Order: sequence, then C-alpha cells, then structure tokens
Amino acid sequence: EEFVLRYQEESGCDIGITFDYPILPGLSLEEKENRMERSIHNSNLALKLKNNKKMLLYSAVHGHNPADIKKYLKSLDSGFDGYAIGSLVPKKRDYNMLINVVSAARNEKPLHVFGITGFPALFALSYMGIETFDSWTYLVAAAFKEYIDPGTLKRVKLRKVKKLPECDCFICGDYDLNDFLEGTSEAEILLALHNLNVFLKEMECVREKIKENELESYILKKAEKNSSIKRAFLIAKQYI
Ligand SMILES: [Zn+2]
Repeated sequence: EEFVLRYQEESGCDIGITFDYPILPGLSLEEKENRMERSIHNSNLALKLKNNKKMLLYSAVHGHNPADIKKYLKSLDSGFDGYAIGSLVPKKRDYNMLINVVSAARNEKPLHVFGITGFPALFALSYMGIETFDSWTYLVAAAFKEYIDPGTLKRVKLRKVKKLPECDCFICGDYDLNDFLEGTSEAEILLALHNLNVFLKEMECVREKIKENELESYILKKAEKNSSIKRAFLIAKQYI
C-alpha cells in the first residue's frame, strides 16, 4: 500500500485512490470478508501514511449490496476526502441494484463510481450528484462494430444499417459507414473516436445543465427516445 501511495503522490496525481482487493462474483463468503478486511486495512493505513497535503485521498469502497457498503464505510477511519465505489458489476441493466448500492454510499463527501457503462446509468448517477466516473462503453461498442447514435444514445449495430445516424463530430465529417465497417484496427479506432466524441459531448452537456439547474428536463428529453434512460432516471429520482 505504501508503494502505491508514494507512486501516486510522486506522479502528481490530484486524487489518490487506496489500493484494494476487488470482490468478484462467485467468491466464498469467507474469501469475500477476508478481501474486504484487507482493503479496509489498506485504506486506513494509506490515510495514516499520506504525506502529500495537496493530493486528495479517496478510499475505495466495496460491496454488492447496501448493507455491505454501509458496514464498509463504518469500518473506515474518518478523514478521507472522498470515496470510490468499485466491484460494481451489476447484472446488465439492473439499475435498481446499481442505484440502491450507490445510494447507500452517498454522504457529504465526493463519490466516484467505477466501471459505469451506458448513458442510462450515467444520467441517473449524475442526477444523484455523482459527477466523475469513467466509462469504457465507447471502446467496447467500437470493438463490436457498434456506433453510438448521438440522437438516441443507443448503440447501433453497423452491420445491420444502410446509413449512419446524423452526427456532426469531426470523425463523421471525414469518414462514413464503409470506413467504420473495415476489419482494420484503424477502423476500430475511428469508430471508438466517434463514440468517445458523443460521450464527451454528453458529459459536457450534463455539467452545463447541472450549473443551469436543468438536468432533469435534459434527461427527460433524452428519455423520449430511449426508454432505458427513463427507467434508470425514475429509479434514481426515488432516492433523491
Ligand atoms: Zn461522429
């Protein structure tokens, strides 16, 4: 743990995250508790060892259900600048479980959620005040020759369409459907870049709409063309 912490401090990270042992599905209860205990120990140790006053220290938080998450948070010493939830590998589109778990971890400190994929979860969590999270959707989609439609934010299987949805990004200005369908790594990168452009644009819109206090109406507008966005949002709204 000390090694990871020094590395983060010396590499000039703005935010350091404690080293932890992810909990994978299928572990025995004993193994699961053991890994959680070691992660908690690491976090509390990192808090004691931290030298760099400028770097914020977030503790990893693990658990697959609200009770585990609450127990985990209670076992951490106070003084962390924020928390990062990992081990969230929810069943695909189980927004109820995802939001339930995230909601259990909410407190007055910033909260980062790892491994969120897809716009429905992204919008729902933004609405809950969780601003920073990463997503690999754009890369994974590109690997499967899927194009994120900027209008509906759904993944379109390129092999099944005759025409690309409208997009004004710089990639789509220069390349078309046939370029994306080529079986080369260049084609995959171009497609990933388009998907990334859509993702970044949406994240920028979300930040803007939060400032203007109009996030809810923005999400509802997006939900008109995407029922999953609506479903995830309505669940999140129950927790606000
Ligand atoms: Zn594009």
